[in-house]
Amino acid sequence: MVEKKSIEDIEVSGKRVLVRVDFNVPLDQGKVRDDARIRAALPTMQNLLNRGARPVLASHLGRPKGEPKPELKMDPVAARLEEILGRKVKKLDDVVGPQVVEAVAVMQEGEVLLLENLRFEKGEEKNDPSFARKLAEPVDLFVNDAFGTAHRAHASTVGITEYVPGVAGLLMKKEIEELSHCLENPAHPFTVVLGGAKVSDKINVIRRFLELADNLLIGGGMANTFLAACGYNLGESFYEKELVQEAATIIEESEKKNCRLLLPQDLVVAEELKPGSPERVVYPDEVRGAWKVFDIGPETVNAYITYLDKAAMVVWNGPMGVYETPPFHHGTEQLAQVIARSGAHSVVGGGDLVAALEAQGLAGEISFISTGGGATLEYWEGKELPGISALQDQ
Ligand code: ADP
Ligand code: MG
Repeated sequence: MVEKKSIEDIEVSGKRVLVRVDFNVPLDQGKVRDDARIRAALPTMQNLLNRGARPVLASHLGRPKGEPKPELKMDPVAARLEEILGRKVKKLDDVVGPQVVEAVAVMQEGEVLLLENLRFEKGEEKNDPSFARKLAEPVDLFVNDAFGTAHRAHASTVGITEYVPGVAGLLMKKEIEELSHCLENPAHPFTVVLGGAKVSDKINVIRRFLELADNLLIGGGMANTFLAACGYNLGESFYEKELVQEAATIIEESEKKNCRLLLPQDLVVAEELKPGSPERVVYPDEVRGAWKVFDIGPETVNAYITYLDKAAMVVWNGPMGVYETPPFHHGTEQLAQVIARSGAHSVVGGGDLVAALEAQGLAGEISFISTGGGATLEYWEGKELPGISALQDQ
């Protein structure tokens, strides 16, 4: 595990602190539709406020590409943050500049500031040093609590640490601990569930967990590529032709590594991907004509459940089917219910799967839900995340 200093390791009293948070929340008609990411940053904000620090929060929102976009201003986020924190949040209309410097200078203990959308500034995603220096100018300390952007070297995640010391927030610290736990000392039996669209997105994560897991349960579109590698013809189903050979190699490796790799034994197919589309359950050698595979079948669900029931630790990334379009959400939902009520330590990552679990009201039953999408995958791959590396070592 990378050992980084966190806010708990340093004196923060009286300090003006730029806190990089991930408030990149979904908006709906100018209101925050889902505030999970705002709530995830609460422990760090409360800790800093209780210890007499003056937090200046900064986040990106959407993809304004270096220009101000009225519909991506941080005002709705500030409004929701006020409700959650139960105190006034002063939202500024700039990211850097004299107005910000002045507001931070006169800020009192107990006050919270929120800067405008970081990506309104061209220097942010370019990690421009002069922009990073301006971000750092009004503060004494930098705290990174935005794990979801830790895989990007931006001014507010990396550049700023050239001008002011950087430490981890409590969410960042927890992410590092939980994701490392999956890699370094998982409890056994250790069962890993991998789904989602593509093998190509996750090849290195599959390989990593092949080394560590007792059981690897495959679903989603990526299972089609593995089934193709076993010689099945899945008709017009989505799969990655150019990854079939790689999938075959992974199956071989799993045997050598003593990892039980399971593929769907039955499949839910339909001619069209639309809500309520007539579906049927078939075996992999029965897929015909215009049928396309959109979910794992009930026998597969039962087989996977037996491994989940016995597991001491479960890691899950990627949905088992096209969960957005009912009835193809069943496989994902049924595994989620089993994991939610199991006593195993469960760690879930991946934007789409987390959205599915939240829609099912099961997110609260998972031991740890990672707030990263790409960042979580890169951490599990063993890549160095620049936003973490830039923080001070223990
Ligand atoms: P995550 O964000 O959880 O890591 P991915 O982004 O890899 O997951 O994949 C999610 C997408 O995979 C969803 O949009 C889902 O509809 C799609 N998907 C799952 N199963 C299938 C399938 N059998 N065929 C096509 N797409 C699928
Ligand atoms: Mg996704």
